[in-house]
Amino acid sequence: MSGFSWERGPFTRCANCLQPTMGILSAGGELLTKRCANCRATVQIPLPKLNKKAIYLDQFMFSMIYAIQNGGNLPKGHESFAKEVYALLRRCVVLQQVFLPHSDIHHDETTVFHSPIDLRGLYEFFGGDVSLMDSRDVELLQDIQFAKAYFDSAEPAVSFDLEQISDIERNEWLSDMFIDVRADYSQFADHIRAVRGEVHGAMRQIADSWLEKKATFANVLESEFSAIGPEKKRAFAKWFQDVLNPESKDPMLLLEASNRPIYREYRELCRLLEERGVDEGQHPIKIVEFWHSDQQREIPHQKISAYLFAAVARRVAMGEKRIVDRGLVNDVRTISVYAPYMDALFIDKRCAVLLKEEPLATALEYKARIFSLSDPDEFLGYLREIEGNTPDEVREYAEMIYGVE
Ligand SMILES: [Zn+2]
Repeated sequence: MSGFSWERGPFTRCANCLQPTMGILSAGGELLTKRCANCRATVQIPLPKLNKKAIYLDQFMFSMIYAIQNGGNLPKGHESFAKEVYALLRRCVVLQQVFLPHSDIHHDETTVFHSPIDLRGLYEFFGGDVSLMDSRDVELLQDIQFAKAYFDSAEPAVSFDLEQISDIERNEWLSDMFIDVRADYSQFADHIRAVRGEVHGAMRQIADSWLEKKATFANVLESEFSAIGPEKKRAFAKWFQDVLNPESKDPMLLLEASNRPIYREYRELCRLLEERGVDEGQHPIKIVEFWHSDQQREIPHQKISAYLFAAVARRVAMGEKRIVDRGLVNDVRTISVYAPYMDALFIDKRCAVLLKEEPLATALEYKARIFSLSDPDEFLGYLREIEGNTPDEVREYAEMIYGVE
């Protein structure tokens, strides 16, 4: 063959013109399109069904993958794990067995990374580019599912299907064409650093009071739970004040206020009550009642985060103050929001250990298997098993389309 052609190898014999010029035109979704470079005869082949696993990697893992691709420094003591996990993950993604979704928590952390554009590109390509609904929206989704049940005096019907919180069908074949959108978010880096600094500062004050009061697991769990209602009410009152405050003529403040999680929740709850024919004047009463109800303790993101903070408090009270570091709040958010929907989470060692402690191990229910650097071999074994279970037909097509060795 000479010159340019849209079709690419591997080439096979064309059934129409009998030349060895039948190549791949495109692949993705559920179809492989082959076309003859000589006579343009086209065939569409349905690709085998997939059953991909959603594996959520924390930012540490993505930074490590980045370091491998760019010849950077690998985490000390974990060099061979880094190389092995990189190769296995890549293979599992290309074999269409796994994808590595990314969330707003990654995006915030990526923005403060030294090469944010490249890192973002990495999880879009390396991981199969599935983006998850923002963590705040997942929380709202769960809050609303529980509110419906509360207003109807019914059992909450909560689905943890990944499709509810992701933008694409999990079981589609990856496109063979990669389109690189190099969005630059670095302008937000200072703001994100500042917010993270404030959150960390507040968290350290809380930790000090845990230590001072010799907090116990049960106390902190109870106070976390009983703070949900008053805290929501306070946030709503603050919102109300900011919007009504005649002093503030700043339209940016109004814009920010209209997007605040508490207002979005309130608005959704009003809509639910309206659908149920509840008089408008009764909405605030019903909503505050729901916020203070025991139902709140069963909402997955509330329950998981309350248990995790109680477990952290227990460690702090034992003198382990180092457990409260800059990454803690994001780690708790990641676990409490995404663990119910993912097949696996690879997270910081500290939180992984807490999840294995009682009463967390028994009381918390979520789909994800939890992995961390505390047992790297366990994660490698999990990936090897997935790799080994790839159906032959899927393997053959993946090798043809993406060129897996
Ligand atoms: Zn042909």
